Amino acid sequence: MKTVIINSESYEKHITGDGHPEQPKRVVAIKEKLKKRNDLIWQKPDLVPYDILSMTHSKEYIDNLNNSFPQKGLKFLDGDTVVSPDSKKAVFEAAGSTIRAIDGIEKKEFKNAFCLTRPPGHHAEKSKAMGFCCISNAGIAMNYLISKYNYKRIACVDFDVHWGNGNYDVMRSNKNSLYISTHQYPFYPGGGTDKDKGDFNNSLNIPLPAGTSSEEYFNAFDRVLNRLVEYKPDFLLFSAGFDAHKDDPLAQFQLCSKDFYEITKRTLSATNKFTDGKVVSILEGGYDLNALAESANEHVNALIEFN
Ligand SMILES: [Zn+2]
Repeated sequence: MKTVIINSESYEKHITGDGHPEQPKRVVAIKEKLKKRNDLIWQKPDLVPYDILSMTHSKEYIDNLNNSFPQKGLKFLDGDTVVSPDSKKAVFEAAGSTIRAIDGIEKKEFKNAFCLTRPPGHHAEKSKAMGFCCISNAGIAMNYLISKYNYKRIACVDFDVHWGNGNYDVMRSNKNSLYISTHQYPFYPGGGTDKDKGDFNNSLNIPLPAGTSSEEYFNAFDRVLNRLVEYKPDFLLFSAGFDAHKDDPLAQFQLCSKDFYEITKRTLSATNKFTDGKVVSILEGGYDLNALAESANEHVNALIEFN
């Protein structure tokens, strides 16, 4: 069966200002690369139901977020999280992309999905926009899988180079989830050490130093695979950031584009027998446009090959 790309033009209209690394060109670069292929289905996001939103974020935060989009110009939600008038549609469609992806997988329209979205989501906490992120898109997916489709063991593998403090905040108190992250440490946003185990021992955080090579990364990644096999997830989510690439300007890992094929392949090889290949991957970071497009394409190669 096929792999779907969930994408909307709204992602190109979420303006963050000149010089901001999280820019519309990121999605455009990946889209141009993926549009050259003929082995993908393309679909638009659906709406995210309010009850799923309010299971993921506090009602007060959702109200504040809804009212925070400016009529014109830019507004800063924190030091580096910027929104513009058209950001509202992008923010809610990014969350809604996971809804379409999950419904399509459940209806057997396609096997797995890559949500080609922005803004990213893994730094958005229950009650706080942070680090370019407004909504935990992976958290939305988790809550939808549990409440609509009764999944019990959802694993989220976050290979963005930054720790997904937002995903952790949303998932730590949920017994039906396992949040796993590999990330540079010490580094933004802080946290993500082996002390962060979740409320039910349902989180594995693997901090790695600046300069981590491919070999060192994959040695550590064996711990991710072992934990996944032990957990036997019934659905897999990826928080797919590509900023661990050696060319990325924001971080100092040394991975190459092909390594993102390998990360994906190894994860799916370990989990497909439990998940029946059901995977939703959501774009997070990645700030060198060439590296980002190449790496995302490698990730999609493995989604197609192992679906
Ligand atoms: Zn990142």
